[in-house]
Amino acid sequence: MANQTRKPKSDSQPAGTRLRWILHIDLDAFFASVEELLNPDLRGKPVIVGASPAHRGVVASASYAAREYGVRSAMPTARALKLCPHAILVPPRHHVYGEFSDRVMLILRDFSPILEQVSIDEAFLDLTGCERLWGPIPDVARRIQQRVMDEVGLSASVGLASNKLVAKIASDLRKPRGFVYVAHGREAEFLAPLPVERLWGVGKVTAAALHRLGVETIGNLAALPESVLVDAFGPHGAALKCRALGQDDSPVITEWQAKSVSNEETFATDQTDEEFLRHELLRLSDKVAARLRANGQAGRTVRLKIRYHDFATVLRSETLPMPTDSARDIYETALALWHKHWQKGRAVRLVGVGVANLESAPYRQLGLFDDAHPREDKLARTLDEIRDKFGRDAIRRASLLRPDEDAD
Ligand SMILES: [Mg+2]
Repeated sequence: MANQTRKPKSDSQPAGTRLRWILHIDLDAFFASVEELLNPDLRGKPVIVGASPAHRGVVASASYAAREYGVRSAMPTARALKLCPHAILVPPRHHVYGEFSDRVMLILRDFSPILEQVSIDEAFLDLTGCERLWGPIPDVARRIQQRVMDEVGLSASVGLASNKLVAKIASDLRKPRGFVYVAHGREAEFLAPLPVERLWGVGKVTAAALHRLGVETIGNLAALPESVLVDAFGPHGAALKCRALGQDDSPVITEWQAKSVSNEETFATDQTDEEFLRHELLRLSDKVAARLRANGQAGRTVRLKIRYHDFATVLRSETLPMPTDSARDIYETALALWHKHWQKGRAVRLVGVGVANLESAPYRQLGLFDDAHPREDKLARTLDEIRDKFGRDAIRRASLLRPDEDAD
């Protein structure tokens, strides 16, 4: 899911040498905490959010007071009530939790647009490069945690590190209200004393095999020669060793990028010229269509992203009756969204076009699209082939060439 920007890098994934700063935030006993917030009588008491034992329900969330009795998430409610008979059982209200979750995510988005919401109560935020805007990142992380408490009333645990792997383990270490910051270069040292089960990709089977090799802690694992691990686990073994050393370069995937093919352009200067901007939409639509065809994919949902000069960002989408990989369909849909949502005259810093709701493209064999736009389709494929051979910019549709680009 390349997220290409031709000029400045400020809106894209961190590149190369810059120090990465990844925050992981996890709300503490989220559903139970929301219930306590809305009903002060519940505060400090053992609260279990879950469907009743009569319906063979399980625990969706338990307050820390209930956890003291051994109550855990995903445990049958009947068993939880045996462990803690005086617990207060509350039926889940997911729409309410969703609203609280949205409020937390909005606070995170104030600090960086590169947000990956992992679940209703958990997210990664990429703060790389944000020190210029917000100051020292460990202070920023504290501020985020405090704002979630002050503005939403919820307690959260935060991990801050150079990557997702370490940030996630860090946030889980001192719950509730934990704040764990792992300095750059100290990842392996931080992980070393922790049980190996905490590492991503170490489930029960792998853990049992590691114990047979004498591995109990992540540090034990990091100290094993790679060859021993590859013998035991195949190629997975080398990855295990990297993780044990706290190495992870996986990017924070925004909702915009997830399961979509998208391209966006950040302009060197903010733009208000509508013709220029429409032209960019066409160029981006063409790129997205080419990538879809290269992947053998088509998608039903066309998305438009507009970021204004002040970083206010608008994401809008339209779902088509049939999946498409045609530049024309994508452009026409993106343009309709543009007309609907662009605030005329407001300077634009970035535009993006994406296609989501992807499926692989067996429909081609049915010929649905070949009937719809036979010439368009053939032209597109020919262009793709030429680009493959001669590089991206070897050929562009005449309408994509601007006078100032003739030179390149
Ligand atoms: Mg949580």
